[in-house]
Amino acid sequence: MAAANEELSAWLDAAVDPWIACDSHEHVYLINRAAERLLGWTREQLQGHPVAELFPQQFHHQGDQSLVRYLLSRRQALGGRPTKVLARRRDGVEVLVELTVGTSGEGEDERIVLSLRRLHEVIDTIREPMEPPRDGGEARRTSGDDLYRLVVENAPLGIFHYDTTPIITACNERLATIVGTPKRVVVGLNLMSLRDEQLMACVRETLSGHSADYVGDYAAVTSHKVTPVHIRFAPCYNDAGQVEGGVGLVEDVSERRRAERQRDENLALLITLFETAPVALGFLDTNLRYVRVNGRLARINGLPPEAHLGRTPYEVLGEGGSAAAAMLKQVLDTGEPVVGQEVDTQAVGHPGPRRLLTGSCYPVRAPDGHLLGVGVLVEDITQRRLAEEERERLYREAREAIRVRDDFLSIASHELKTPLTPLSLRLATLERRLERGESVDPTTLRHARQHILRMTGLINDLLDASRIEAGRLALHPQATRLDSLVEHVLQAMEAQRGGHELRYERPEHDVQVFADPYRLEQVVTNLVENALKYSPDGGVIHVKLETRGELALLSVKDPGIGIPEDQQKLLFERYFRARNVSTRSYGGLGLGLYISRDIVERHGGRIWVESRVGEGSTFHVALPLLTGAPSHPPASQPERHVH
Ligand code: ADP
Repeated sequence: MAAANEELSAWLDAAVDPWIACDSHEHVYLINRAAERLLGWTREQLQGHPVAELFPQQFHHQGDQSLVRYLLSRRQALGGRPTKVLARRRDGVEVLVELTVGTSGEGEDERIVLSLRRLHEVIDTIREPMEPPRDGGEARRTSGDDLYRLVVENAPLGIFHYDTTPIITACNERLATIVGTPKRVVVGLNLMSLRDEQLMACVRETLSGHSADYVGDYAAVTSHKVTPVHIRFAPCYNDAGQVEGGVGLVEDVSERRRAERQRDENLALLITLFETAPVALGFLDTNLRYVRVNGRLARINGLPPEAHLGRTPYEVLGEGGSAAAAMLKQVLDTGEPVVGQEVDTQAVGHPGPRRLLTGSCYPVRAPDGHLLGVGVLVEDITQRRLAEEERERLYREAREAIRVRDDFLSIASHELKTPLTPLSLRLATLERRLERGESVDPTTLRHARQHILRMTGLINDLLDASRIEAGRLALHPQATRLDSLVEHVLQAMEAQRGGHELRYERPEHDVQVFADPYRLEQVVTNLVENALKYSPDGGVIHVKLETRGELALLSVKDPGIGIPEDQQKLLFERYFRARNVSTRSYGGLGLGLYISRDIVERHGGRIWVESRVGEGSTFHVALPLLTGAPSHPPASQPERHVH
């Protein structure tokens, strides 16, 4: 008998379907391996127990017959077709099976064989787990089991259980919702059939006793709905400590993924704005260490962005960072922004070239209001400030030009009018004398002519100045004896010199230059006239001509009022008159030196002044000598040009 049983056992183990063999009292005496897997019991645990215990209560009796007897009695009618019943697993899960029953032998020798085939098209429900039959009792609920079911059904996670096959033996509603597949389809699903390598690897891990995590997109078998999920796999053990399957805790991470994507998009937007904004931006944490800086701020600080991270402004900028650090600390301490602080990088010892910056610091808060750190906004206003300064300078110059023009108009009209009154007086005297037949005094006539000459001189200066401005002052250079030219000018001025002495110091040799003699006379005349005019107390006007190297040097020295030092460089500007000459005492349009400078420079020379207020002035003119010049004077006086 034992040998027959063993043989039967071997046969049954080889079968794919679960088999249960009972004696005539419907007590189990053998189950095959497939049945062990399906039901979760070992054959030793079931041996001798009524087979009815493997089915729910409602199947125990059909009318007055046991389930087994009933099916045996219906064998003829069923013609070998199986009957669907629920079988109860050891863990309390009821699974739908097709059951066929066969019998052999009679009386005490009768052997009944139940063949079960699992169907996967039913909603498995977790009922109370069966007490081990050897305890002999009815399945008993425990409060722990209730709690367990409560937790499983209300968990925010999808939960499924699978056996070693690995077939899903149970799941909660949440799982069905997550994967978009009815529970009855989920239960009974062989995880293998999902053909997901990563998933299978996790299952294998659990079946070998380890936990595993699956992160991926689960595609529902029927609806093909794709759900991003995170599944935590864990092994399940039986009382004997052997792995009998596993559980999967499924989290639908689509919301989280969406939020992450949204966050990533927002972040990308912010980073783009951060990096492309035309201002320097940075963020420091509550320890005042840089967390993020954009390229502009990095450039201002003279270090690459990554060299800032985790460091304090002091560590990045040295002493130059202390002003920034103080501002940042103020924001942290008060929670109030500090806006528009101007910083001169040189003044605070900031490294790199000098720049003018405006810095603003703002507290950065989380939505709940707690301080996350300080945002920094720096603007380099060096260019803007320079432009402002330039604008201010131009504005000042424009105002000055307007003032000069207004002054000039009043000076010019005054200057032109001044000779007219004495001229008209003298002419009236002449007229009266002639009417009375009296003799005419030549001095009166000479004085009248001098007034006309003065007016002509003023008008010529105005015309020359406007020609210079228009670039139309013509020069007619020729070999010219400068020594004779100066002498000639001084002789012509004899009549004007009044109480002054004109002293001329000249070299023994000729001094030849290549120049327009008419224009050079104009320069020398202007210098000597000024020397006379601005030396009201008389004295010696010292005119000196010498040569030095390739240059002819002419100087006109007077003992006059002198020129304030800060005005000296402006003397040669158009219309400029030093502040120590009042219009009333010293007539003039401020054009003589302007015209002289233009003439001298266009001859390749230079004109400058040395002077002290109250001590007198010396005007110097340097002109290039005519090289290879004849040592004798030209036969005739230089040709004069009318300009
Ligand atoms: P003007 O004499 O008609 O004012 P200039 O161009 O010849 O014009 O001279 C410009 C200014 O330079 C004068 O207004 C005067 O302030 C100053 N200046 C020129 N020559 C002398 C000088 N020899 N001594 C003192 N100041 C002088």
